[in-house]
Amino acid sequence: MAVLSRCSRAVTAATTPNAAAAKFSYLIRALSPFSSSSSSSSTFDADNGLNSRIKPAVLGTLKREPKDRNVQWVFLGCPGVGKGTYASRLSDLLGIPHIATGDLVRDELASSGPLSSQLKEIVNQGKLVSDEIIIDLLSKHLEAGEAKGESGFILDGFPRTVRQAEILEGVTDIDLVINLKLREEALLAKCLGRRICSECGGNYNVACIDIKAENGKPGMYMAPLPPPPQCASKLITRADDTEEVVKQRLRIYQAMTLPVEDYYRSRGKLLEFDLPGGVRESWPKLLHALNLEDEEHKQSAAA
Ligand code: ADP
Repeated sequence: MAVLSRCSRAVTAATTPNAAAAKFSYLIRALSPFSSSSSSSSTFDADNGLNSRIKPAVLGTLKREPKDRNVQWVFLGCPGVGKGTYASRLSDLLGIPHIATGDLVRDELASSGPLSSQLKEIVNQGKLVSDEIIIDLLSKHLEAGEAKGESGFILDGFPRTVRQAEILEGVTDIDLVINLKLREEALLAKCLGRRICSECGGNYNVACIDIKAENGKPGMYMAPLPPPPQCASKLITRADDTEEVVKQRLRIYQAMTLPVEDYYRSRGKLLEFDLPGGVRESWPKLLHALNLEDEEHKQSAAA
């Protein structure tokens, strides 16, 4: 396994388990104004998205220096851009949980629980699930992670509305928001080519994107991302990865999530990253942009 130097300040941050556990308890309570485990006396202020009674406590307790905790990063980007791919690679690299709210929704959908049929209709139409439901699912996931001693996160697919961003900002500090960008022509093809292993959940892509240079615009090539042999016979396609639904999800991204980019841009937290091509080409450049370096690779190159 590659040994990596964790050069960014946030990445070198030490973890203090007790502090992290305390922080997560507050985060869960603050993020759970609608869940049954939340304080019955707390009220949710729909105007600014913050639980006004929890906020003062949170401000004193959660706003820890990044050096006292693991990183708290967010991935933004259109459907099909590759948030899951890069967030999961960074998660493996840094040992920090990758939390994809789309996966939480799909797990709930597959569980045949009380929300399942309601979610199926929303997701299969390419619409957003309500902030209340998504925050409830996220809170439960964080609570389970906290019980396992996890700290820090790489969020993928959350926040997706300004209200969600305000709620998150109100309870904890997000260190960095990585805004992945890809040429629009490639997004639809990438969603339609996406395949998931029904057993391990691995994400692959059968699309071969080859955009020719035109009118001064450079070409772009993205090789398929084939599954390993053990997954090849278990691939499934997401029910919401049809042309009509992907187009709807792209429209909703423009309307609801573009303002989230502005929200973080104005706070100086947004790192814009234009994907230059497929994973092989983009991954080392992303690591470089994040000030992460592959020392093993450097050493072997120098030898
Ligand atoms: P995408 O490829 O569109 O980024 P995701 O896997 O992140 O897809 O999400 C799948 C679906 O789950 C979304 O279309 C939406 O219905 C729901 N969903 C995921 N995250 C959120 C969120 N933060 N807020 C509302 N709905 C969400």
